[in-house]
Amino acid sequence: MPETRKPTPVKAPLLEVRDLKTWFPIKRGLFSITDGYVRAVDGISFVLDRNETLGLVGESGCGKTTLGRTLLGLEQATAGDIVFDGVSIPTLGRRQMNRLRRHIQVVFQDPLSSLNPRMNVMDIVTEGLVQFGMVEGSKQEHAARLLGEVGMNRDAIYRWPHEFSGGQRQRISIARALSLKPDLIICDEAVSALDVSVQAQVINLFLKLQKDHRLSYLFISHDLSVVSNIADRVAVMYLGQIVEFGNTADIVRNPLHPYTRALIAAVPVAGGKHIASDAVRGEPPSPASPPEGCRFHPRCPEVMPVCRHTAPNVMEKDGHQVMCHLYSQA
Ligand code: SF4
Repeated sequence: MPETRKPTPVKAPLLEVRDLKTWFPIKRGLFSITDGYVRAVDGISFVLDRNETLGLVGESGCGKTTLGRTLLGLEQATAGDIVFDGVSIPTLGRRQMNRLRRHIQVVFQDPLSSLNPRMNVMDIVTEGLVQFGMVEGSKQEHAARLLGEVGMNRDAIYRWPHEFSGGQRQRISIARALSLKPDLIICDEAVSALDVSVQAQVINLFLKLQKDHRLSYLFISHDLSVVSNIADRVAVMYLGQIVEFGNTADIVRNPLHPYTRALIAAVPVAGGKHIASDAVRGEPPSPASPPEGCRFHPRCPEVMPVCRHTAPNVMEKDGHQVMCHLYSQA
């Protein structure tokens, strides 16, 4: 455990994100003058408890991957705070961040591009252990144990990533993430590239590992139906902001925000039909110039005059937190 981490009270959340902003400057002209910002993450707050899964859902480009990268220290926060196990991440220097990083691991969407094709499976899954000086005994035994955790045979340790199916490669990625005994795994579209039957197997594996190791997951996906199979709570993200937050079952049964309803309407139902009436219209606007008022108003089927000029605040309704004028007028 790095010396930067202080023991926190048992009930303290593992992760607390406070009004986080990650903006990217837009440079123009010969002198690269900053001419605005892409507001990829624009004022996000949430807590994630130990042994909990938080689903983060939204369309491509809503900022969810940037949020994950900021939590991993791969992007610099513009403002706000990220407190992980009692430590404020933005205040850490590079060495302290490197030490902390072993407690926050990531599983990406495409295991083929995230696994080094020149390394065999043993070297891939033990690479972190070697870096952190945590190899006790033989690498083979560590690799075999980690592969066993993810339901793979030890025969795989001398094979190469291209020899495996997509689902097996994702299991190898998960074994690598597990190797450093993390507290939090950020799963960034971790099952999106897999067939539906393989998705279910990998989700079951995530659930088993959570039980065995008391892991917390931030499960990022564009697909609310996938997230609903694993997440305890769901945050729905639109154009850099969380527009609805609540328990997964409540969100799925009783979505309040028109955007959440649109995401649910986009989920295929039996017979291959969609509920079209709530389906979201058009493309999301650019996060470089978000619309005035409610950011969802150009696409919202329930837009009202107030929505065009006044941004809604977050409010509590039916146990959800929701950012929508429909509920401020109730
Ligand atoms: Fe739609 Fe208005 Fe609610 Fe925005 S605030 S989601 S535009 S009803």
